[in-house]
Amino acid sequence: MSIKSVTVYAASSQALDPVYVQAAGRLGRTLAEAGLEIVYGGGSTGLMGAMADGALAVDGRVHGIIPEFLTRVERGHQHLHTLEVVGDMRERKARMLEKADAVVALPGGCGTFEELFEAMTLKRLGQFLGPIVLVNTADYYDGLIKFLRYSTEQHFMNPAHLDLWQTVDEPEAVIEAIRRATSWSAREALATASVKPVR
Ligand code: AMP
Repeated sequence: MSIKSVTVYAASSQALDPVYVQAAGRLGRTLAEAGLEIVYGGGSTGLMGAMADGALAVDGRVHGIIPEFLTRVERGHQHLHTLEVVGDMRERKARMLEKADAVVALPGGCGTFEELFEAMTLKRLGQFLGPIVLVNTADYYDGLIKFLRYSTEQHFMNPAHLDLWQTVDEPEAVIEAIRRATSWSAREALATASVKPVR
């Protein structure tokens, strides 16, 4: 699958340790330098803003998708190539995934988790087939990764599902992780979607 466009999920928080902010900027720069279009939530704050700024600083192409109600409380990032205004959060989430050849999650809160988990769930069911990469800055996602493994051990998910996403420590490793992602088809997804009874 040729990857031209990457959707990034990332924190809106403005109170983060600089280690996260720097990594977000490096991710934007890395994706832009690889010639990939970046799609994201359109905000100017937190890791979203830092990632977009990192890409724009090296002339990357960035497309924001923001729900109308958020433009009334914040203006969205003003220097993007395109800022698409949609009806609501659900429409935004659907558009972000529709435009994604691959998905990357930077550290974030429940908004990022929700977007990431939807991508994981749809991939598990064969409705989204692209690579999913978690950027585990400062081990932020260790607890989540451990819990996903535990979920598999307890048979809530099939062990095959653990191969549906990759984790990298540094944003510069994202491109290689996308290239090396295991291919996945709707047929394989449906064959492993439900976990069979344990004998
Ligand atoms: P969170 O990680 O909870 O801060 O949520 C961030 C994610 O949810 C981003 O990937 C956005 O798509 C969306 N989001 C949450 N808050 C905002 C905001 N203030 N502006 C734009 N997008 C937001």
